Amino acid sequence: MPRWPHDDPASLAAYYGDPETGAPGKQLVPVAPPFTMYYAGKAVPHIMFHRKAAPALTAALDDIWRACGRNQATVDRLRISAFSGAYNPRYVRGYEPGNPEGRTPRWSNHAYGAAIDFDADHNGFNTGHGTMPQLVIDAFKRQGALWGGDYQGRTDPMHFEFCSREAASKPATLMDVPQTDGDTDGDAAPPAVETPPASPSAGGFFGRLRNWIVTSASGVGLTGLGALTNGEVVAMLLGFVLLIIVGSFLVALWLWGKQNVADWIARHIA
Ligand SMILES: [Zn+2]
Repeated sequence: MPRWPHDDPASLAAYYGDPETGAPGKQLVPVAPPFTMYYAGKAVPHIMFHRKAAPALTAALDDIWRACGRNQATVDRLRISAFSGAYNPRYVRGYEPGNPEGRTPRWSNHAYGAAIDFDADHNGFNTGHGTMPQLVIDAFKRQGALWGGDYQGRTDPMHFEFCSREAASKPATLMDVPQTDGDTDGDAAPPAVETPPASPSAGGFFGRLRNWIVTSASGVGLTGLGALTNGEVVAMLLGFVLLIIVGSFLVALWLWGKQNVADWIARHIA
C-alpha cells in the first residue's frame, strides 16, 4: 500500500482536501527547517505545508541536515537552503480553466500544500536531474515522496511531492494524470511551462495511444510530445496509414510492373 494518495485529482482531494473549496489552505501548518532557508534572499522561518505531509517534510529536512553534518555552510554550498516555494493554489500550467486546448483543469500538487521546490535557479523545468544533490533525493524518497527529476519526458528536478504513482485501484483515473506536475511557483521561479507528457485532455483510447507515442518517442530521445492533442494524435495516425498504403502501392509497382498493378486495380477496385 502506498503511503501517499495516488496522483490524481480525486485521490488527492480525498486525502488533502479539494483546492476548489480552498480546503487544503485551511490545513497548513508551519514546518521550521532545522537549517536556515532562504527565499529570494530572505530567511524563511517556516514553510507552510499540509498537516498530513508536514511530519514527512520535517523528517526529510532533518535527514538532509544530518547528512550535511548539521553544517549550514554545507547546506548553503549544495544550495539546499534555496527554498523555491511550497503551498500555492494554482493550476498546472496549460491546465487552467478555459485553456485553449480544452484540457480538463487540473490543480498543481502545490495547491494541495503537498509539494516543495528547492533551488529553482539550477533545477529548472526540463533540465534532466538538474543539480539536485543525491542526499536530498534520498531523504525525500525515504519518506515515500516522488521527485520531479524522475518524471517521464520533461523533468522538474526542483520538485518533490507527497503522492504516489503506483497503480491505482481505479485504472480509469490513471489516464487523466499528467506525468509531470512540473511546477515552478509562478512568482519566483524561472522555467515554467508545465508539461504533461502523458495525457492532456482525456483518458480512454486516445490517452493510451498518446501515452504509447510519448513513451516510444522518449525512448528514442524525442521528448516534448506530451502536449499532443487528440487531433494531433489522429493526424499522426492518418499520416501513418497513408504512408503504409502509398508504400505498398510502390512496392507492388516495383515487384509486378505497371501493367499488372493496373490490371489488379481494374479487377478488384475499379
Ligand atoms: Zn514544484
